[in-house]
Amino acid sequence: MNSSPRTQPDSCPGVLAVHQAADGGLARVRLPGGLLSAAQLRVLAAASGELGDGHLELTSRGNIQIRALRPGAPQTLSDRLYSAGLLPSISHERVRNILASPLSGLDQDSLYDVLPLAAELDRLLCAQPALAELPGRFLFALDDGRGDLGAVGADVAVRVLAGGKGLLVLGGVSRGAEVPLEDAPAVMIAAAEAFLTERAAQDSEAWRIAELADGAAEVYERLGLEPRGLDPRGLDPRGLDPLGLDPLGLEPLVAAEAAGTAVVVAGRREQVDGRVAVVVTVPLGSLSAEQAAVLSDLAELGNGQIRVTPWRSVVLGGFDAVDDAVAQLEAVGLVVEPESPWNGVTACAGKPGCAKALADVRADARDVTPRIRRGRQPVHWSGCERRCGRPAGRFVDIIALGNGYAIDGEPVDVELVEAVAAARGAR
Ligand code: SF4
Repeated sequence: MNSSPRTQPDSCPGVLAVHQAADGGLARVRLPGGLLSAAQLRVLAAASGELGDGHLELTSRGNIQIRALRPGAPQTLSDRLYSAGLLPSISHERVRNILASPLSGLDQDSLYDVLPLAAELDRLLCAQPALAELPGRFLFALDDGRGDLGAVGADVAVRVLAGGKGLLVLGGVSRGAEVPLEDAPAVMIAAAEAFLTERAAQDSEAWRIAELADGAAEVYERLGLEPRGLDPRGLDPRGLDPLGLDPLGLEPLVAAEAAGTAVVVAGRREQVDGRVAVVVTVPLGSLSAEQAAVLSDLAELGNGQIRVTPWRSVVLGGFDAVDDAVAQLEAVGLVVEPESPWNGVTACAGKPGCAKALADVRADARDVTPRIRRGRQPVHWSGCERRCGRPAGRFVDIIALGNGYAIDGEPVDVELVEAVAAARGAR
């Protein structure tokens, strides 16, 4: 059971509802399924160059932010994004929070291409007026069966199972109800509607299903569904199932998650059609105009798409060969090497962008990261205890104190680079 302490609606920024940060306006552009065309990325990069700080920030939900917007710039920005097809719904722009497995339909780990389901979910979402009232934090996820979105904590998730079935998982609770995959978008919409109904019944301002009292159970009941199956995280991660019970066939998925192989990391991926995809890490999720231009140009040589992941990286696919593409990406500071120390490193805005920040965490992360080897654990640098943009699951927690840093709650009293390396398990 849980209950919500919320007393007011969320204030998540959008394109129309711009947040005023210390460095100016901050606009967040939702990208359902993380999908962008080359032309759309060029529009975003040009807009940031002319109206903002010139960079595009990739977020932990696979969206893009533009910072340091000048007074009057948001109107120009929204006009440009509308023309580029990046603002298809005025009323629903902040609620189009839909993640999809970024390699969906490309490699052999994809059991089913969920991107068409994500597009249909977005269409249904924007067509339902009542769902404009969803909180901006409410998250949908469509996992193509590899388990890469198992830890994102979506409110309404469908994970592909074998045999054309999906597992509806609500509120991050690891029990689920089977649904036919073709029905997944409609069921997910019904779950969102049931959340709003239950929230009203509880007279709550909850932003997430898990914030409601017995939220997941109540929403399942309103849907007429009975979740079943083992708690996947209770299964033996070595692939054993001591009770002999795995009615939903989740054991391989759980093993992959436990081994850390489910999350998509930088590198080259063979596609099932014989072509090649590349997963490209964007250091600290900050994409420069030059980097955006290279990504756009390369996307046009491939399948035309840029897929933004929730891990500060992008996927380009559809190449006959990628050696030249990799060289171009690395020449502008993007990362394709799986063992690069930049993989798994994230940071909040810090100084000077955020008034609450106690340090320029991005500058410190840029100084420290190249000096250590890639470790086993993700790292997140925060300018204060709010930990904005932190990754899901376990991570090395580096927080500015004003007179130094704490790592995992302990003040650092040695060289910062040594402390980070030790915490990350890199040395
Ligand atoms: S974690 Fe703190 S310093 Fe960083 S962006 Fe959030 S509020 Fe600002």
